[in-house]
Amino acid sequence: MQLNSATTKNAILYLRVSSEEQVENFSLATQEEICRREATRRGYEIIETFREEGRSAKNISGRPELLKLLEFCRRNRRMVGAVLIYRLDRISRQTQDYLYIRKRLFDYGISIISANEPTGNSPTDKLLETIMASFAQHDNDVRSERTRNGLRARFLSGLCTGHAPLGYKTEHGHAVKDGEYFDKMKKAWDLMATGTKSLEEIAQIMNGWGMRKVISGKEYKLRSQTTSRLFHMKFYMGILTSNKYPEEVAGQHEAMITEEQFYKVQAIIDGRNRCGMTIGKRLKDHPDFPLRRSIKCGKCGGHLSGGWSKGRTKKYAYYICKNRCGGSSIAVQKLSDSLIEFLHGITPTKEQLEVFLMVLRKKFAQNINAIRTKRERAEQEIIQLKQLREDLVMNHLKKIYSDEVYQDQSKKIESKIAAFEQVMGKNTFYKYTMDDVDKFMMDKFKDLGQTYLDSEPGQQRVLLGSICPTGLAWQYPGLSNQQFSTEYQAICNVRNEQNALGVTDGIRTRDNQFHKLGL
Ligand SMILES: [Zn+2]
Repeated sequence: MQLNSATTKNAILYLRVSSEEQVENFSLATQEEICRREATRRGYEIIETFREEGRSAKNISGRPELLKLLEFCRRNRRMVGAVLIYRLDRISRQTQDYLYIRKRLFDYGISIISANEPTGNSPTDKLLETIMASFAQHDNDVRSERTRNGLRARFLSGLCTGHAPLGYKTEHGHAVKDGEYFDKMKKAWDLMATGTKSLEEIAQIMNGWGMRKVISGKEYKLRSQTTSRLFHMKFYMGILTSNKYPEEVAGQHEAMITEEQFYKVQAIIDGRNRCGMTIGKRLKDHPDFPLRRSIKCGKCGGHLSGGWSKGRTKKYAYYICKNRCGGSSIAVQKLSDSLIEFLHGITPTKEQLEVFLMVLRKKFAQNINAIRTKRERAEQEIIQLKQLREDLVMNHLKKIYSDEVYQDQSKKIESKIAAFEQVMGKNTFYKYTMDDVDKFMMDKFKDLGQTYLDSEPGQQRVLLGSICPTGLAWQYPGLSNQQFSTEYQAICNVRNEQNALGVTDGIRTRDNQFHKLGL
């Protein structure tokens, strides 16, 4: 991919302030000023600015300005060389979102420049960025593990970890009967068990009884989606389930209905939905079909969907092409096994990884130096700003400035100081040492198959996406990969870098393996 930046010195600004930063007095204007200064320093002209205000959306779909920016870049790709941001996390704290956006922009020949982190376009630069992003996320995960473990212990002991469902309320951490709602809900279950009411009708009836669901203090009428959810909850028969944990445990709360009644109602509801509901939309984040979005049909390139086939004694889960192009179906377990085998097969050797980490270490040191320079500059700026603030106060005391001017100026200075203090404090590169990163990488790349198995679904997608950005395809008898990411190739093609580092021999590579896979 040819980058436009060699010929185009036009850049776009993307600015975003999180709600937490608004409290810290860190304004969009300050962010903009710092970004513009960085643009000037690098010789870019800003041709468009996108400001995301008052948004705290966790993913990119809740960021209209970011989506507008992508659209602008698509239409004006020839004119734009770079997108300038204040910090990488402006785009997203989610590694997978970040990778997605970076890839989109890269496809247009546009690079991302962070005013506060060194960014580059070589595969090693990119990989380092990705590693830092995943490492930061990993670090966050470890921190929240204690909280999670606490929640899990709570769940395993049979205590409700979320909101108690309609008919119950939470009191001192325990789910207890919610007065008349409990009796009304029980009556609704009885009515459902007669098989005479649809989910829509039962919703109407419950509304008529004055039952409402409450979301952040606001009351809402019940609709069939809500009743569908409620009448599938094992909670009512005294069982706790969670979409986070695989276990089902006996709850400490009092059951509303018997197990028998629960399954009777399930049979009634499922009987009504029997027309082809097991395939398609309903299975969208289904834990039984985790690879649906990661692996495509090798015949037509369409996505896979999940389904169940009935055997003599039990049901079997399988994937099949969504387009029904005639490609063969595959058992869920078999696809997962071949993926693990595939990842195992492409795992870099220990030697490759060690050489690569040496390269990374060098890059890391360069970046640290660049950051150090930036920090020193920020330190100077802060000293000057503080002096300016003192002068301002003095002049205000001498009544040289009006209150209005004083407050206005003071606010501006405070905001600038806050911004520079951010440069000093919150830098991913500075937070960790290369030893941490080394350990992390060695651990994660020891066996990619095992790493995949040990990861949570979100992380699994990041892992696959950062190795095979165009996705893996299944076609009997196995998985194929159209293209490895440049980052991943950087790890495997260490031989070129070896010369640069003066490493001569003794490195065993798995070229044949990679050659076979199209590297
Ligand atoms: Zn197909």
